[in-house]
Amino acid sequence: MYFLRPILAGHKNQSYQNISLLSTAYLCSKIKLDKMIEEKKFNIKETSELFKAKKTTPVECTKAYLDRISEHNHKLNAFVKVLADSALKMAEESQKRFEAGSSKSLLDGIPIAIKDNIAIEGIETTAGSKMLQGFVPPYEAEVITKLKEAGAVILGKTNLDEFAMGSSTETSVFGPTKNPADETRVPGGSSGGSAVAVASGMSPLALGSDTGGSIRQPASFCGIVGFKPTYGTVSRYGLFAMASSLDQIGSMASTVEDAEILYNIIKGYDKKDSTSIDINQISNLKSQNDISKIKIGIPKEYFAEGLDPKVKKVIEEAIEKFKKMGAEIKVVSLPNSKYAMTCYYIIMPVEVASNLARYDGIKYGYSAKAQNSLDVYLKTRSEGFGAEVKRRIMLGTYTSSAGYIDQYYNKAQKVRSLIRQDFNQVFKDVDFILGPVAPTTAFKIGEKTTDPLTMYLSDIYTIAVNLAGLPAISVPCGETDGLPVGLQIIGPQFSDTKILELGKIYESA
Ligand code: GLN
Repeated sequence: MYFLRPILAGHKNQSYQNISLLSTAYLCSKIKLDKMIEEKKFNIKETSELFKAKKTTPVECTKAYLDRISEHNHKLNAFVKVLADSALKMAEESQKRFEAGSSKSLLDGIPIAIKDNIAIEGIETTAGSKMLQGFVPPYEAEVITKLKEAGAVILGKTNLDEFAMGSSTETSVFGPTKNPADETRVPGGSSGGSAVAVASGMSPLALGSDTGGSIRQPASFCGIVGFKPTYGTVSRYGLFAMASSLDQIGSMASTVEDAEILYNIIKGYDKKDSTSIDINQISNLKSQNDISKIKIGIPKEYFAEGLDPKVKKVIEEAIEKFKKMGAEIKVVSLPNSKYAMTCYYIIMPVEVASNLARYDGIKYGYSAKAQNSLDVYLKTRSEGFGAEVKRRIMLGTYTSSAGYIDQYYNKAQKVRSLIRQDFNQVFKDVDFILGPVAPTTAFKIGEKTTDPLTMYLSDIYTIAVNLAGLPAISVPCGETDGLPVGLQIIGPQFSDTKILELGKIYESA
């Protein structure tokens, strides 16, 4: 198997992906490494089988991950809260179910980390912001309800850029998260805490959220799998809103198969989310695993100026593998993708300004002391939000104000339709689009914090996907200078199962 090669070869640069793959089986099963390699027991399904066969238990597994967190989190800062007691309780309950032969799902007893912008009832949830420090949600996100029903073990909450606005996990009130492949570098963002939790083997699985690339880009920077489903297929209820027409919860894991198992648990119609879609009602979901019948589009705009030549080389090698497997490769064009960044930075801040208006010092979390209510609002918002969040609120307020809405916001909505049409057009001809996730590998901590525009460019290949509401995945496809590179697979709306299928084919090649 691809991911075992570095271990077998005693590779000096054994990636953290391998550690995490090992951890699920090795930490959990306590079976000797050699035997594991021989038996290839490295995933959720195998772990679940080990639970059933009583070779290990959910409690042992959870303890092993908690130990790893104690060992590594202080230097990586992936978790902002570790829920050791409740995790062990959940694991004990799971263990009882296994003892009674009545496990609930493939995720029963499997630990998972949750991005700290997803509400867990009774647990402080901060979105990485001073504004929400001390806020304890009285309700549960739908994805958490689903995970609990499935018997998963929630290990803790992970770090993120404040309110998920960022590409580096540096703007959190809890300080930056570090990339395990090189601790002087960022893990990407905003779901950097979740990516690092998985990449460093502190959790086998994590939930992230993706508004413009926040699952895929950190997955790419950390060498793990990050899947952003079709907009509306996973409930946003209980996800702290950043930009509601773009936000999407998705799965982060070491392998595509594990990401798929997690997605299958969290997806589904939810009447509490007004944009929820029942994917089971959509008929075109048949998976297609005969790769020789697959047509793949390579958008020329994704390989133009701005893409680091070393990243380009790794992506081209990955595309070559698809060709060798028999896929038909075709150069395509997404002519309006050059406007995606501008369009996003008009639409997203307008939604941000609207969504974050609720943080007024009265209803949630932080409240500044002042003489009158207006001063409470003003002081709370100026002290509670960080610079990036304020920048977006101001931008969004400006572009949606009476004198400018037609010039900016309404025009951006039209461009958004054109971007969507580009994809529809291309998908008449090809089944998938392949390309890079990000133009570079992980950059240095602090490198881009003073220049927001260069930071925004990190998402140049991911943003259009959110504007169009499409599913896409980042799959590790190699390294350059010891840093992971992710390959992005984009599919038409509701092709989630097919994308995951193709990801698995690539992974096993
Ligand atoms: N990096 C992008 C931004 O800052 C995307 C964030 C996200 O997907 N949450 O807006």
